[in-house]
Amino acid sequence: MDYTTMKPVVYVAKPGLNYEDVYRTVFMMLDRLWIISKLRIEPRSRILVKPNLTIDKPWTTGATVCPYLVEAIVRWFQMKIDDCEVIVGEGSMLGVDTFKSFEVCGYLELADRLGIELVDLNRQPTVTVEVADGKVLKEIEVAKTVLESDFIVNVAKLKTHILTLVSLGMKNMKGILPYKGKKAIHFLGLEHGIVDLNSIVKPDLTFIDGLIGMEGFGPLVGEAIELGIIVAGFDVVSVDSIASYMMGVDPYEVLHIRYAGERGLGVLELDRVKVYGLDPSIVRRPFKLPPRSIAGDYPGVHLILGDPCSGCIGSIATALTIMKESAELKALIDMYGCLTVAIGPKARLDESKGLTVLCGRCLYRTNVDGIFIPGCPPQSYLIRDILRTKIGLPPIYVSEDVVREAEEFYR
Ligand code: SF4
Repeated sequence: MDYTTMKPVVYVAKPGLNYEDVYRTVFMMLDRLWIISKLRIEPRSRILVKPNLTIDKPWTTGATVCPYLVEAIVRWFQMKIDDCEVIVGEGSMLGVDTFKSFEVCGYLELADRLGIELVDLNRQPTVTVEVADGKVLKEIEVAKTVLESDFIVNVAKLKTHILTLVSLGMKNMKGILPYKGKKAIHFLGLEHGIVDLNSIVKPDLTFIDGLIGMEGFGPLVGEAIELGIIVAGFDVVSVDSIASYMMGVDPYEVLHIRYAGERGLGVLELDRVKVYGLDPSIVRRPFKLPPRSIAGDYPGVHLILGDPCSGCIGSIATALTIMKESAELKALIDMYGCLTVAIGPKARLDESKGLTVLCGRCLYRTNVDGIFIPGCPPQSYLIRDILRTKIGLPPIYVSEDVVREAEEFYR
């Protein structure tokens, strides 16, 4: 659709958590969106529904998408589009088996009931696609299944994210990439990478599942909050913008939403979006956000801050806080005397002492002896896992191979 000439439409609803109410609401939202847009999908089309099942945790934790929300979406397409083929596809995060996520999150029974196929997008044959005007990705491998779909329904979560502040529709599309692409996007530049990806595979319709959201240390280990909300629309940028506002976060502060608006992928400005259903200001509920400053007291840690981005700050603050609580930080200090953590392009590395950790792409190939942690920004769980191996503990989130690979990524 051409959003330079028309206002994108976003539908906001609050059915609560009851199965029948969610079902009825999803049907009402889709009927209305179709009437407004006059969109037509050809009979026998292939519809890919891509829920956020990044981890094998039940939807009640707020980390993954509610199966009966997806059930209602699938049923609507099966009823409205003649002879369509609906598949549900996801590629869980590194170290998590997608079919384990399907099982834990209730999608195996769902697939049986609906007669649909479940697809692990991490393990599909891929096609390399050039990213015209990509800021950090020049080409990208995408599962063939995704490219061969006629219509993509993106079903994301309403949750916080320690690297990107919020995880909504555009961020959810990262799940369509095979492991290699997921790693590359994290290491080369997450915020622009998300926009590059959405410029190649833009979802046709996006739902945000705010039935149970997640705040605080999202997207995996934050606190679940019951909201009973669903947001949906065709323009993923507008949907993200409205959902971000509803979480109490100015969409301009979320770099990938802002970049997407500035790069013309969709509409970012709230006053340019036509909202149906509930007024977002009525259901707005500010979320507890992940740390945006390194305000904690970390004994024995020497921080060198060289004008870092908020993503690096959030990641380091999260890793240090969790390691302090688990006594791993103390074990590191006992072993090395001091832990220097450097982040940001202007970090003054002559101030390093003890074990030095150089975090993020900005500090790649400096002349200082230390551990380099790749990523832009680096992921907090990877920082923790790499540091755990320095005190003889096994990694928790990823395999030892992934730790080794991450350490050697740029070497
Ligand atoms: S690695 Fe550098 S550019 Fe990337 S998020 Fe960190 S400070 Fe910013």
